[in-house]
Amino acid sequence: MKPPADAPVPDWAALRADFPILDQTVHGRPLVYLDNAATTQKPRAVIEALVRYYEHDNANVHRGVHELSYRATTAYEAARARAAQFIHAAVPEEIIFTRGTTEGLNLIAYTFTSRIKPGDAILVTEMEHHSNLVPWQLLARRTGAKLLFVPVTGDDGLLDLSGLDALLARNVKIFAFPHISNSLGTINPALELCARARRHGVITVVDAAQSAGHLPIDVQALGCDFLAFSGHKMAGPTGIGVLYGRQALLEAMDPFQGGGEMIASVQFEQSTWNKVPHKFEAGTPDIAGAVGLHAAMDYLDAIGRPAIAAHDGQLARDAFARLARVPGIRLFGPAGERGGLVSFGLAGAHAHDVVTFADREGIALRGGHHCTQPLWRKLGITATTRASFYLYNTAAEVDRLAEVIDQAARFFGG
Ligand code: PMP
Repeated sequence: MKPPADAPVPDWAALRADFPILDQTVHGRPLVYLDNAATTQKPRAVIEALVRYYEHDNANVHRGVHELSYRATTAYEAARARAAQFIHAAVPEEIIFTRGTTEGLNLIAYTFTSRIKPGDAILVTEMEHHSNLVPWQLLARRTGAKLLFVPVTGDDGLLDLSGLDALLARNVKIFAFPHISNSLGTINPALELCARARRHGVITVVDAAQSAGHLPIDVQALGCDFLAFSGHKMAGPTGIGVLYGRQALLEAMDPFQGGGEMIASVQFEQSTWNKVPHKFEAGTPDIAGAVGLHAAMDYLDAIGRPAIAAHDGQLARDAFARLARVPGIRLFGPAGERGGLVSFGLAGAHAHDVVTFADREGIALRGGHHCTQPLWRKLGITATTRASFYLYNTAAEVDRLAEVIDQAARFFGG
């Protein structure tokens, strides 16, 4: 993804200084934070928005008529409108605040229980994060539907789309897929996948956990029915996320959780539901989280998501090329265009040992199955080491990563 030719080049070094946590040593070495696919760090603008909210405006939303409640409600609904703009939703009512991607995906899977019948199918890919697999397994178990899978080609981590139309024709009701794979770095062709699903009348669910903070997203251009993401993976706070849903679908869906705020009228025996999106937001929401997410969206868009995608994509491609020279390494995911992360195995070393080795050098990596166990089983391994990049990472940090992984390969490889 390239930014427009006339776009100003961000001052990446100055932006890095916006993240106070990065200015520290770990085990006596400068911190190199490369665990951004798990969670990103927060700029001062987000931290200050949270402090400002709690110091000046904190109250519960919607139910109060006093000044602070008015301010909290205004801030919360402003964050909703900002989220709609961030992904180009038609109206703010299409934005549901959740705890994160996982809750958004569970919300859809749960509320679709009454709409799925035995013999229906739910299509996912072999590269799903468990968050975009297990909720569909549970839905299938509740309804008697079956799960179908778009295959992954191999270590290059691409989707094999040759049989997609045949799969979609097998009574599929929902097709859920990741925009960017958190294990492989693959950027899936979301536009094409949504268009092909639509031709079969299939509802699409895009897991945008790894893309929303990195790429520009336009849900109307994509033509997806649902899209979920997490604030904490895009410079925002933990505990807040967004589920986008097409308004007509949200109106037709059953509620998710019952409680305050989601009702219109309650009697002892039964209730009626509030309007969308409140129908899906039972109880007191994470108001401060929404305020912090608003600040994060402003922060990212002031830089420009095309510039961020170009920056972390380049770091990942450079890391991939540098690591390819390390003895005994096995790299996963596409060699060319990729999202901002690299996953690899080292002969003779468990991923956790590699992560511990890197940690002693101040480098934060992640080792394990990255919540994609079935994918790794298919590829014949149990765990990888993952380095994932964001806007504040530098070419010098890629050099340091390559140097330390080379040392690790020699240490564990003998
Ligand atoms: N999907 C993908 C592709 C992810 O990378 C993650 C987080 N690792 C999730 C879903 C779940 O996100 P969260 O834990 O924020 O709900």
